[in-house]
Amino acid sequence: MDSFRLCMDNFTFCMDFTRPCLDILLSILDNSDSSLDYDPLSLDFSHTRVDNPPLSNLNAQLFTFKTICLSLTCILLYNEINLRMEVAYLILLPHAKSPELLTLESLLPRLSPRSPQFQELSDYYERTLSGYIGEISLDYYLRIASIHEVILLHGLRMTHENNTFQIDTLVMLPSFFLIIEVKNFRGEVIMDPHSLQMIRDDEVFPNPLLQADVQKLHLGNVLAAAGFPPIPIYTLAVFTHKKVLLRKAAAETDILVSQVLPQRIAQLQSDYRKKRYSRTDLLQVGRMLKKRHTPKQFRGPVERQHIQNGVRCPSCKESFMNWQRRTWRCTHCKATDRSAHLIALADYARIFQPEITNQDARTFLRLPTSASAYHLLKKSGYQKIGQNRGRKYIITL
Ligand SMILES: [Zn+2]
Repeated sequence: MDSFRLCMDNFTFCMDFTRPCLDILLSILDNSDSSLDYDPLSLDFSHTRVDNPPLSNLNAQLFTFKTICLSLTCILLYNEINLRMEVAYLILLPHAKSPELLTLESLLPRLSPRSPQFQELSDYYERTLSGYIGEISLDYYLRIASIHEVILLHGLRMTHENNTFQIDTLVMLPSFFLIIEVKNFRGEVIMDPHSLQMIRDDEVFPNPLLQADVQKLHLGNVLAAAGFPPIPIYTLAVFTHKKVLLRKAAAETDILVSQVLPQRIAQLQSDYRKKRYSRTDLLQVGRMLKKRHTPKQFRGPVERQHIQNGVRCPSCKESFMNWQRRTWRCTHCKATDRSAHLIALADYARIFQPEITNQDARTFLRLPTSASAYHLLKKSGYQKIGQNRGRKYIITL
């Protein structure tokens, strides 16, 4: 019995089947009008012709799944296959900008620099976005680390017994869990061995490994409270910026740069060999954690007087647009756009609330007449609640 591995995006399916079955599968794929391409040796499948016909990424994935499932069904009919399908590399919680980050992206371009919160919010946004970019950059190193039967959760945030904690990346393996605290600092970073503090440009920051240890404590409590057996939880602090110069004691192997991560994980895998969780257990834990994930929301309030109304130009992003002759025209670059108000309304939903009245839409979009607000809201396809003057539209994001 040969074992073949089908790799598709984030999922890997391992199957045991005979060579004739494999031939059947491949002949079906060859003859089907699928957007799949594969390497016959490694059986790594990839999409080709995804833009003809145009398919969104999600549709392409679904299409791939359907093709594979159809092929497998055909093979099963031949009754020659011993199918063992498992998820070997599963991202259960993918990277996603938090509602807080999205609100800041809507808010900051509209916030007057004279607002007392402007500087603080801008700095906070830069830091948060930088951390998010750092977490994404780590994906490459996790992929090249030879880890199998792994479940990943990115940006997991939850509250347990009044403690809210966030784990940048949680790697769940059958023999141990790994918490990775990501820092995307650039320049010289000094880990002081005596104070255990982190110092950059004479500024002191909390030690990232100690931060991760607190998360470890909370995660252990969550697992115990949910009735899962104990499993070792290891912590690493990874610096992801290409221009970071990390100064630390040589013995400190748990504070590292991204490039060292694959070999550190390999070392941990040889240190922790005993399997504690089955694949089913891992999936159960992963689903439980995902269910409890509560992404961070923006906590205002920001004074309304400091937030600019108007439809921002999606082309130059410099200026606001005017509604003239049934289209939006930029006062700066002269670009026109018939649907630029939808972006502005999404801003409104994120900054204030998703419900909007005709009058509020007219004010926020800086529309000349109530009739044009009515026209644009009606055309948007938003769900309506209430009647006449009390009518509100629910802005969908
Ligand atoms: Zn413009």
